[in-house]
Amino acid sequence: MPATPTLPTARNLIDGVFTAAGADGIPMYDPATGEVIGHAPRGTRADIDAAVAAAKRAFPAWAATPAPKRAEILFRAARVMEERKDELARLVTREMGKVKLEAEGDVQEAIDMAYYMAGEGRRLFGATTPSELPNKFCLTLREPIGVCGLITPWNFPVAIPSWKSLPALVCGNTVVIKPSEETGGCATAYVECLMQAGLPPGVVNIVHGTGEVAGDALVRHPDVPVLSMTGSNETGRLVAQNAAPMLKHLHVELGGKNGIIVLDDADLDFAVQAILWSAYGTSGQRCTAGSRIIVQAGVHDALLEKLVAAAKTQRVGHGWSDDVNLGPVVRPAALEKIERYVKIGVEEDGATLACGGRRADVPAELAGGWYFEPTVFCDVTPTMRIAQEEIFGPVTALIRVQDLDEAIEVFNGTPYGLSGAIITRDFASMMKGMRALKSGIVYLHNGTIGAEVHLPFGGVKATGNGHREAGIAGIDFYSELKTVYIDYSGALQRAQID
Ligand code: NAD
Repeated sequence: MPATPTLPTARNLIDGVFTAAGADGIPMYDPATGEVIGHAPRGTRADIDAAVAAAKRAFPAWAATPAPKRAEILFRAARVMEERKDELARLVTREMGKVKLEAEGDVQEAIDMAYYMAGEGRRLFGATTPSELPNKFCLTLREPIGVCGLITPWNFPVAIPSWKSLPALVCGNTVVIKPSEETGGCATAYVECLMQAGLPPGVVNIVHGTGEVAGDALVRHPDVPVLSMTGSNETGRLVAQNAAPMLKHLHVELGGKNGIIVLDDADLDFAVQAILWSAYGTSGQRCTAGSRIIVQAGVHDALLEKLVAAAKTQRVGHGWSDDVNLGPVVRPAALEKIERYVKIGVEEDGATLACGGRRADVPAELAGGWYFEPTVFCDVTPTMRIAQEEIFGPVTALIRVQDLDEAIEVFNGTPYGLSGAIITRDFASMMKGMRALKSGIVYLHNGTIGAEVHLPFGGVKATGNGHREAGIAGIDFYSELKTVYIDYSGALQRAQID
């Protein structure tokens, strides 16, 4: 088993002061071994009040700091994260289990976002546009909004806090982060990097704790006008309901049931590689995981055979081992949920288990960890529960269709709409699929996973509420547009009348 060096632990950061967990801390685990690796502070409503008050005090000075100066701190944060990349990646693997390459990718995403949002500090463009009246000028300005409450999940424990906080900060807002209970060390190390880069006290704050207490206190706080939460649909609906009475600026980014369409003319060896990466990357615990493979009848059996053979070659084990490409799942509850869905697939849905379907065998020193075999279901129909509900584990389901039209109908037949893909060599089918898939993200000729920070990220239908992370869309969410009319005619000019 790889040696684990001493790594930072979860601490609160309020007004520039870090504090460790008390005796009532929330236990944190290494999913690779099941061992307790530390405790996160059990944040209270009073801790949230203190963090929000600090962020509110820091807001006027930070908002008044020129955006290019704010951006210089984000540039430095990117460099600090580059220097600490190995340490941050080890933390990711230790707290949520993903394999080394992907853990490094998680951190790289935060570095990319810091460089990208730092660049935005010299843009933050508004618009100028002609007026309908003479001697009148029109423009829009971006303004910061205030304290942003950011609630994050465990599956991208460095990247997601960065997706939310960096656009918020460059726009001149201050933030309070409530990270997942599972991955508090990652979020703490990330805010340490921001502080090392020179962020003034109170501009970024972090309070650990349960969703029901610390998360809920942030959602309902009257001094938090902006809320962005990523997590499950169940939590998202609750957060949306609880935030609604205050008419907050709200973004929820939720689960998915993503599909990869494979047509008869596809290169099947390539398709298998794309499916492996999409279905089993992060052990299937990505919001964009390819959990439905919608296959045209002509290649269905050949693809199934190749996919099962390839799934059996996946090497399950400790995420920090170089020869492993499928790490553990995050917690015993996740393992139990996956087992429940395998049972539903076989007993309730009547699908066929083509491979996997059980806990994976691992060496004795990892016996306490939470490992599941890469699993493929076939004979799956579109309305089965395993084809409709998010499993969040290394499980994928093959659905046979006759043609592209049926594939599109099946793809669109779930409540979700995060990521979709179409693998074909036919240009017209790609273009038709690109337009017809009801999905926030579409990949042509690849799998469903892989986001770049300068493009908008988010889903349609029950995956979200219409906003996007990253790209200029991220800037749009964390700034308010002010429309300015400058009338230098010296006369009373009336729009629509004169
Ligand atoms: P989760 O919903 O259990 O928790 C997410 C966060 O919400 C945590 O910080 C949690 O403490 C907090 N929370 C829980 N109850 C709360 C409440 N009542 N009020 C306020 N906050 C509360 O989700 P998870 O298990 O951490 O993450 C997995 C889920 O996230 C999956 O469904 C996955 O698809 C989704 N996800 C979506 C995206 C996306 O961009 N669409 C990205 C990553 C993960």
